[in-house]
Amino acid sequence: MKQVLEYLKYNFSWVWASLGISGFVEIIILTVSVYYILRWFQRTQTWTLLKGLLIILAIMLAAYVMQLRVILSILQSAFGVGIIAVFILFQPELRRGLEQLGRRNLRFAGWFDGAKNERFSETTRDAIAQACFEMGAEKVGALIVIENMTPLGEYEKTGIPMDALISPQLLNQIFEKNTPLHDGAVLVRRDRITAATCVLPVSKNMSISHALGTRHRAGLGVSEASDCFCIIVSEETGQVSIAEDGVLTRGISYDKLIARMEELRVIEAPTKRFKFRKGKKNEKVSEQ
Ligand code: ATP
Ligand code: MG
Repeated sequence: MKQVLEYLKYNFSWVWASLGISGFVEIIILTVSVYYILRWFQRTQTWTLLKGLLIILAIMLAAYVMQLRVILSILQSAFGVGIIAVFILFQPELRRGLEQLGRRNLRFAGWFDGAKNERFSETTRDAIAQACFEMGAEKVGALIVIENMTPLGEYEKTGIPMDALISPQLLNQIFEKNTPLHDGAVLVRRDRITAATCVLPVSKNMSISHALGTRHRAGLGVSEASDCFCIIVSEETGQVSIAEDGVLTRGISYDKLIARMEELRVIEAPTKRFKFRKGKKNEKVSEQ
């Protein structure tokens, strides 16, 4: 051990001397930032775009090494225009990325005030889960969006306003086929339904199953655009699925739904948030 330390000291002391503490801090910050930026690229549709930009960069490098001046100048201009095009074309994704960053900071704020509260009551949790599985058993389609930190006013406006305390009977009634309120999504804020028949953004994610139609895609879409918790009941299969953070989990059991909603219900000081999460797929089939 001593020898190893001696070796490191002898060979790498210049690294420490030239970088200093601030240099190391900068390396750590940059490494973490690059990790999160790459993860963001991977999770959004921008991943293919990043690959395209990297290919152009590689060709530019090759053109520079081989001194192909005309090709190099064309690619340089294309790259400049490309960067501007990225901001225009991917404006929604960039907006979401910045919103997610803002949400992280809000969670971080909770660390200091030690807030312990609840997003909705146990009665609401049980009522929603019960209604979803009752509707599933009857093959009645449903789409329920539970608001979290991101306000969902823009989707609420697309529906019919309501202000009703949640009960399984009410949810069953709303999604009953051939009734005026059954189409679209129900929006839940705390213990109340604030609107029905809401229109949600449909996910453009290509990696989810083609068997899934617009109800599931709308559920996934709103979970990509906000930090909401979305429950989808399939009219075709009766399966209950959930979408959160751009990930769709299909065929979830009653117990798992209750357990996940319980985690969501209780607002705790986010001590557990500071950990690297494993890469996620956009669609999961829940094992029962
Ligand atoms: P299911 O398994 O229930 O058939 P699905 O994913 O196959 O679901 P569709 O069969 O296309 O989806 O479901 C259509 C219903 O989904 C519509 O009648 C409407 O209620 C709802 N829906 C479709 N698009 C949206 C949207 N953008 N926002 C909210 N609800 C939507
Ligand atoms: Mg369908």
